[in-house]
Amino acid sequence: MELFDTHTHLDAPEFDADREKVIERALAAGVTRLLNVGASRNLDSARDSIKLAEKYDFIYASVGVHPHDAGAELDFNTLQELATHPRVVAIGETGLDFYRDWSPRNSQYEWFKKQIKLALEVNKPLIIHSRETAKECFELLVDLGADAVGGVFHCYPADSSFAAKLREINFMVSFPGILTFKNAKDLQKAAEEIPLSQIMLETDAPYLAPVPYRGKRCESAFVVETAKKLAELKGIPLEDVARITTENALCFFKINGD
Ligand SMILES: [Zn+2]
Ligand SMILES: [Zn+2]
Repeated sequence: MELFDTHTHLDAPEFDADREKVIERALAAGVTRLLNVGASRNLDSARDSIKLAEKYDFIYASVGVHPHDAGAELDFNTLQELATHPRVVAIGETGLDFYRDWSPRNSQYEWFKKQIKLALEVNKPLIIHSRETAKECFELLVDLGADAVGGVFHCYPADSSFAAKLREINFMVSFPGILTFKNAKDLQKAAEEIPLSQIMLETDAPYLAPVPYRGKRCESAFVVETAKKLAELKGIPLEDVARITTENALCFFKINGD
C-alpha cells in the first residue's frame, strides 16, 4: 500500500526532537510520499520545506503565506524566487480565514491575490486554506482565472455541492483526520458523496490527529486511519482508496510516478 500525505508541516517546531523518526514511521506505515506545506514563520517554513524536499526524494514542498501570517512584513520577491524551485510543486497554503481572523482581512485578501497570480506565473497549483470563507475564496479564484492551474481546498471542504462547483474550476479537496471524528457527520456525508477522483488525503500534522490518536500530536503515519475511514464510507477496500488518492495526488502535483 502506498499513501500520499498531501499536507503536513514537518518543519514545525513540534517535530524538532524526533523529525527523522516521524519520517521513518510514515514510511513504515506505507505513507511513501509527503508534501510539506511551508507557509508560516515569515517564510522560514517555506525555506525549511524546500530543505526537507532536497534531503528526501519522497518529500515535496509547497511555499506560501498562510492567511494567519498575512499581516506580517513579508518580502514577495523572496516568495517568488522560492516558488520557482524545482522541488516546489504547489503554492500555499494561502486563502482566507474569517473563523480565526488572526490577520486583518484586507491583508489576507492582498496576500491571497498575490499568491493566485504567482501560481499562474509559475504554473503550479494552489493549496487553499479556507474557513468560513468558501464563497469569498471561490469568487476570487474564478475572477483571477485560477482554473488554469487548479488547486486543492484542504481540511474543510464543506459539502458535496460546493465540491461540485470546485470541480468545475479544476479544484480537488483533501480530507484530514477530522473525517474519523464521531461528530464529523457533515464531513463524512461529503466524503461519501464527492467522487473519489476529486479526493486526496492529508494529516495537517502536527494538528488534527485522527481517532484513535485524537488530541495527541499528529504525524504522517496516521493518514492510514483517515484512509481506512474513507474506505469504510465509500464501501471499497483500503487498497483502492490508497491507490486512487495517491494517483490523484501524483497527477495533481504533476509528479511523475517514481
Ligand atoms: Zn490550513
Ligand atoms: Zn496546514
